[in-house]
Parts: sequence; structure tokens; C-alpha cells
Amino acid sequence: MLSSTKELLETARRNAYAIGAFNVYNLEGVKAVVNAAEVYRSPAMLQLHPSALKYGKLPLVSLCLEAAKQATVPIALHLDHSTSENDIQLALKAGVRSIMADGSPMPYEENLQFTQQMSELSHTYGAVVEAEIGRISGTEDGLTIAEKEAKMTDPEQAFEFVRRTNVDSLAVTIGNVHGEYKSPPRLDFARLERIRNLIDVPLVLHGASGLPESTIEQSIQLGVCKFNVNTEVRLAYMQALKDEICGASSKDLLEIAGEAIEAMQEVIAEKLQLFGSVNKAHLHINPYAAILTAQAHNQ
Ligand SMILES: [Zn+2]
Repeated sequence: MLSSTKELLETARRNAYAIGAFNVYNLEGVKAVVNAAEVYRSPAMLQLHPSALKYGKLPLVSLCLEAAKQATVPIALHLDHSTSENDIQLALKAGVRSIMADGSPMPYEENLQFTQQMSELSHTYGAVVEAEIGRISGTEDGLTIAEKEAKMTDPEQAFEFVRRTNVDSLAVTIGNVHGEYKSPPRLDFARLERIRNLIDVPLVLHGASGLPESTIEQSIQLGVCKFNVNTEVRLAYMQALKDEICGASSKDLLEIAGEAIEAMQEVIAEKLQLFGSVNKAHLHINPYAAILTAQAHNQ
């Protein structure tokens, strides 16, 4: 069922687990996320990076929404890392009700202003907004932020930022990076705890590819209820394609697609287990159930 990010994150927070949000680019990615979530009776999120939106446009948004509606577990659709009002408008008009307005590349005051405006706009559509302060290093979809440009989230600034922008969740930078970790990840949990003590909205951790179990667990205990995963799923997809296409057996196109889905699905399933969301689908209520029932009565 198509679910709302707000419901997913709040239920996860109450029950001390986290929601996995996986970037998808095509049908294979969408199938991998929905299949894994259904097999493990877990809620999950489909995420579209702006590069995926640019590539797939409305047909890709429709595909994600339809797959979520048909799923037997709660699935929400989210626009990831958007720095463009046009993309946000496009996504909102297409029915996306969860937006990351990412002003983190901008100086603080500009970020504040951009996020305020996008938050107001998204709320008029009934959509929720994730924002980011601090700046995460690493590479995602062609954009690289050098380590020296990255900036940890300042707890007091984060408090003021959430209050003034009215956002619904906040992505924090506490030593997490996009892409592969070049050395073992070391997160600043003392910082996360200070942020948690000051801020009431759900916290989000990007760059969850490669984070070990103990780090994930501690992050959840300190209030993280959404983890973004991109790199590991993409690598599994591309590796499966390479193996299948260059392999000795001559498989058909759909067989190769199936192998690629399975490879991604395996990574996603492993993450759902790490995040503690396996067998939690039943805890989530369908936020649109009342609307659907009313519509059925009126027909
Ligand atoms: Zn990210």
C-alpha cells in the first residue's frame, strides 16, 4: 500500500527501528525494493534522486506510485536531495508527497530561506519535507563533495533551523559519507545525542551503505529512524549485469533483469534486517484508508 513518510517514520520511532529508503532508477530497482519488503513483511521507501527524476520523469514517478499502491506492505515514495524548486514542483504535481529540500550546498542563511520556501510549498500539497544542515562528503550520482568541504551538523544551529523552517525530518551529518567509506566509519554519537535532545522531528542518516550493525543500532537508539541506501544497491545491480552479460551462459534479456533484481533484493533484505523493520509491516496503519473508505461509500 502507498504509505506516507510521516506515518512510516513516526511508527518506526515509537517502536525503535528504522525505515530503509532505497534509491531507484528503473523498474528493476522498484521491483527489488518492493519484493524484499514483501518477503520480509517490512515497510520501506522508494527514493528518486533528481538525476533519476530527470532520466525517468513522470513515467518513473507513476511506476513508483503504482508499485507502492499494489504492494502488500507499506511503501512511501520520496524525492531525494533536491536543490531545485522546479524539480520539487514537478514531483509534487506528479503525486510525490515526501520531499528532500536540500539547501545544504548553500550558505546557512540561503539554506534557511530555500528550505522555508520549499517547506511551505510542500505543505500546501500535504507533503512532508526532509532538510539537511551540515554537509555530507562523498559522491552520489555524479556530485562529489570533498572531505574538507563537508561540515558536521551543529546541534544549536539544527534546533534553530528546524524551528524556523518547520520541516518534518532532518538529515544530520555526524561523520557519515555518501558512497564507499574509505576507512572504517566513525560516527560522532555525542553530537547525535545533543541533536536528539534538542530536536523533536525524526532524524535521517544518509550514506548508510557500509555502516556496521553496531553503528546502525546505536544510531537508532539515538533517534535515527530513516537510513538512505544507494551505493550498495547500485553496485549489486551493475555487478550482476556485468557478470550476466559477460558470463559464459547466454541468457535472455528478462533472465538477466531477473538476476539483477535478485542481486539488489539481497542487499535490500540485508538492510531491512539491520534496520530492524522486518515483520513490522503490520504495525503501520494505512494513512489513506479513511479517504479510500469514504470514496467507496460515496460511489
Ligand atoms: Zn544523501
